Amino acid sequence: METERFSWPRPFRPRIPGSGGYRSNRLLRRNAVWARLGALLERTPWGYRLFTATERVTKEQLFGCRMCGQCALPTTGYTCPMTCPKELRNGPCGGVSPTGMCEVHPSLRCVWVQAYERAEANGHTGDLDLLHHPADHREWGRSAWVNHWQGHETPPADPGPLLHRQLGVTPR
Ligand code: SF4
Repeated sequence: METERFSWPRPFRPRIPGSGGYRSNRLLRRNAVWARLGALLERTPWGYRLFTATERVTKEQLFGCRMCGQCALPTTGYTCPMTCPKELRNGPCGGVSPTGMCEVHPSLRCVWVQAYERAEANGHTGDLDLLHHPADHREWGRSAWVNHWQGHETPPADPGPLLHRQLGVTPR
């Protein structure tokens, strides 16, 4: 949706703990049933619109979701990276303060610092090593859940081989 895409993002503090997000992921991760539902929704425009509106309301309230259509929440401690004012898919940037505050909105906590803290609290710090692909701007306003169930997303990559090839370093 245009509104979300061109609105000026502000770091958002999720309204549910990371543990709630990880539990929901167990329910929503791709399986045969969800894949069939996704295929049905894609064939039914009114159903797709209704479903997407429900996803929008739910995730906007809980995570400040802006409907980028390629959800990173499961690998960012259930903190939305698209609420970073720089829309960084791999953060934080060099401007984060020593106390973890955003460079653009110094009164708000950096979403990537929140992501690390929430992932750490749930034993998922390894997720923060993953390399996210740039957002595909054609997907804005589309359902990230359907995209996930239908395999229309590029999962984040293990940066190990790239770092080793380019810099000769081996990540921990
Ligand atoms: S779909 Fe995109 S904008 Fe919405 S919560 Fe996930 S990463 Fe954030």
